[in-house]
Amino acid sequence: MSTKNITHWIAGQAWTGTAERRGDVYDPATGAVTGQVDFASIREVDQAVSAAVEAFPGWRSASVAKRSQVLFAFRELINSRRDELASIIVSEHGKVHSDALGEIARGIEVVEYACGIPQLSKGGFTEQASTGVDVYSIRQPLGPVAIISPFNFPAMVPMWFFPIAIAAGNTVVLKPSEKDPSAANFIAELWKEAGLPDGVFNVVHGDKVSVDRLLEHPDVKAVSFVGSTPIARYVYETGTSYGKRVQALGGAKNHMLVLPDADLDLAADAAVNAGFGAAGERCMAISVLVAVDPVGDELVEKIKERIAGLKVGPGCNGDSEMGPLVTGVHRDKVTSYLDAGLADGATLTVDGRKHPISGEGTADGFWLGPTIFDNVKPGMSIYDDEIFGPVLSVVRVDSYDEGLELINSSPYGNGTAIFTNDGGAARRFQYEVEVGMVGINVPIPVPVAYYSFGGWKSSLFGDTHAYGEDGVKFFTRGKAVTQRWLDPSHGGINLGFPTNS
Ligand code: NAD
Repeated sequence: MSTKNITHWIAGQAWTGTAERRGDVYDPATGAVTGQVDFASIREVDQAVSAAVEAFPGWRSASVAKRSQVLFAFRELINSRRDELASIIVSEHGKVHSDALGEIARGIEVVEYACGIPQLSKGGFTEQASTGVDVYSIRQPLGPVAIISPFNFPAMVPMWFFPIAIAAGNTVVLKPSEKDPSAANFIAELWKEAGLPDGVFNVVHGDKVSVDRLLEHPDVKAVSFVGSTPIARYVYETGTSYGKRVQALGGAKNHMLVLPDADLDLAADAAVNAGFGAAGERCMAISVLVAVDPVGDELVEKIKERIAGLKVGPGCNGDSEMGPLVTGVHRDKVTSYLDAGLADGATLTVDGRKHPISGEGTADGFWLGPTIFDNVKPGMSIYDDEIFGPVLSVVRVDSYDEGLELINSSPYGNGTAIFTNDGGAARRFQYEVEVGMVGINVPIPVPVAYYSFGGWKSSLFGDTHAYGEDGVKFFTRGKAVTQRWLDPSHGGINLGFPTNS
């Protein structure tokens, strides 16, 4: 079978050089290599940054009205071609088509938010701050910015950042995951069609070499990163050491606390949807179910019933509910946790290795069915590590307080959810829990575009969350102007510090 070559997108066109290094891209449902992606060397990264540097003055000086018109055009294009983009995502990531459409929809929300840049970037104005003196604030773009994204949302995660970055007048170099690189190129072509000037949106593919170059490049002014915690910490520390503005979103271990008064059918549905959707490869996946006894047995039983009927198969098949894992290496790593959990004494209630896989030609795909471990405890690697696969751990606790203590002891703080019909308990939880995004009877509380997305503790390095008002703040810098127009009464020498009168 012939394979495709996926290359960089620099200054409005596909790169035409010959790469020194390449990586394989797979169809996770069949295990077949379907393409090779070029890995950028320092030279290609520098070319992309140069394109972004050159495009910056023109794009920065484009009127706010013009910039928002391009955003509107991009929104129309990506919306009308979302099915094609979803198919690209499915073919390299493996998630089911409806789920790929879901990530595109959530990305489009941010584009729509960024269309409001005239309103979002408005400053303040104080007339007569001092006699005859006005003070006002403006927000200006930073210049070329880098976005480095993970494999699990090849469209949505970059779209958390670039719509706002571009709307605000910055230029962008995106370094997507090398595991599913094609979505970024498709998006780049849509930008061109939408009328974005060449060089405003560039894509370089690759690995640590390209990331490191972006982190140290003197012309890159800011870095938005999303990925695993060790790399997020590294990117934050390295990028800031080069004087850059950095927001680095890391990994997660999201707990769902089920109180005894909860609707157990609703909670079981939610645990299955949030635990096994996208094969658990979501940073907001629920990976730990904290059952406040006496409901544990009944809840686990309800979850078991639901997952027995889950259809696991290729993402391109309309009836598949869960697809494969992204690569064979990742599947093997996730599967190794099944042995680790057993060795640590947890109860393997449902073994995903036995789940039937539907679909033709799937024998060599990267499969693991939904898995449940019960009686899990902190200290076991299945509890402590981010597994990032379809493995749900159930921890039994005796009280709300014990559950809260467990959640707050986690080094991660991305998302969490409480299931209860007690408004007072829910309110207490949102007040006490040390997590950045909280769901109340909502298992995957990804904030809408006009709030901001971000976790606490080891789930985010930096102080600015993604998109929403934080996004506008991250991609602009503030300037305060104090103005006075010629008035002879203000002449004269006065070395004192200016005060208001
Ligand atoms: P990853 O950390 O392996 O890779 C992320 C990016 O960093 C990729 O572009 C990759 O090429 C690059 N990279 C990898 N190793 C590097 C290194 N040594 N030096 C420099 N760059 C490197 O993450 P992944 O496996 O692609 O994605 C899954 C992870 O992302 C999970 O931990 C998940 O929780 C996390 N994630 C977090 C969020 C969030 O919002 N907090 C969202 C999505 C995914």
